[in-house]
Amino acid sequence: MPASLIRGLAAFAVPGGLIFVLQLLMAEHPALAPWLARLQGYYPVTVVAVALLLGWRFDRSRLVFATVVIGTGGALLASLGTRPGPAGQVLADALTVLLPLNLALIAVIKERGIFTWHGLLRWAVIGAQAAGLWALVYLNRLDWLAGLGRELLPLRALADLPVSQPALLAFAFGLTVAAVQGIRQRNAMEYGLFWSQGVMLYALLVGHGGGLLAVFFATAILVLVVALLEVSHFMAYRDELTGLPGRRALNQALLKLGGRYTIAMLDVDHFKKFNDTYGHDVGDEVLKMVAARLEGVKGGGKPFRYGGEEFTVLFAGKRADDTLPHLERLREAIADSPFTVRGRNRPRKKGEKAVKGSNRQVQITISIGAAEPGGKARDPQAVIKAADRALYRAKKGGRNRVAT
Ligand code: GH3
Ligand code: MG
Ligand code: MG
Repeated sequence: MPASLIRGLAAFAVPGGLIFVLQLLMAEHPALAPWLARLQGYYPVTVVAVALLLGWRFDRSRLVFATVVIGTGGALLASLGTRPGPAGQVLADALTVLLPLNLALIAVIKERGIFTWHGLLRWAVIGAQAAGLWALVYLNRLDWLAGLGRELLPLRALADLPVSQPALLAFAFGLTVAAVQGIRQRNAMEYGLFWSQGVMLYALLVGHGGGLLAVFFATAILVLVVALLEVSHFMAYRDELTGLPGRRALNQALLKLGGRYTIAMLDVDHFKKFNDTYGHDVGDEVLKMVAARLEGVKGGGKPFRYGGEEFTVLFAGKRADDTLPHLERLREAIADSPFTVRGRNRPRKKGEKAVKGSNRQVQITISIGAAEPGGKARDPQAVIKAADRALYRAKKGGRNRVAT
């Protein structure tokens, strides 16, 4: 399996899937289940409060909306109990249909603020559903929604489930939308929306009611809170342009180093001229290409974007001599990567043919300086300086080369 696929699957499964599994194990364990039920007094309220507070302070409207939707839905379902009367059952069916549909919607909308015009529109959509349900209860006209509990297919396997077929369909839709959005955006929040629905669907399918249902729904919100923290951590430590870990991540990694390591500093050759000739946007594309090659570095190297057009590769536990073949291969891989600059008279509309000669292939090269601790260079900061001096020598020596 390619490393990127494994990384992608891991990002999908942790922490949302992990919380999902833990919640199931706890609920189904005979010794832990009663303890879990005892949490109902304060756990849901605490999670909702933390979620709303963080969503507001971090300006993450989707967490706020999801918390309100799950919190209200969960509170109503829990209060209906496991054996509601006919009217209560209709209300429960309506809630279990609306819940995943709302979360699917939240998975596709962008962060546009909580108290902005966009935010108000979204509050209105949630409010309209609440008002609609309330009006039907008040007018005693819940039977209008009886269709939401209908059997769509005469399937024996589904007949005994405590969840109606329309609700199952809505959950299937909600889970699919969250998964597809997650894969497209590679964003922890969408993964969270998937697992959050998974937790709730499980509780509904098993027929947990009352307090235990409230606990499950609180965990569904907890999944989203943790997802928010993941997103924030990612934003703080990742460089937005290249997707590589940034300077802050490098500084942390330096603190974890032992006595043996090698630091390589990399710098794109003649990048200023390149920017001046082709523009900053094309320059950014070059940086992305270089970063993609860096992600493929072998020999245990970990790449970072140091800043601007400078990168760092950290080899923990490796001598400089052992890293040189890998750095050499990296340098070659970048020099051999074709980079196409689109000409000015490139086709503007779809279907227009490219004008011959309008696209140009340019060669991108980098210079690398590597250093390990030794002599005066004792700590990582000093080793970085030594690597910088080696880089300077690589540039002086004609660029597109590795120096130590
Ligand atoms: P040398 O071969 O000696 O390294 O020459 P150079 O032109 O690459 O060196 P210099 O450090 O003088 O130029 C770095 C340039 O990198 C300056 C700036 O225009 C460009 N640059 C820095 N950060 C970015 C960025 O994020 N995007 C783009 N497009 N350009 C950047
Ligand atoms: Mg530079
Ligand atoms: Mg440069």
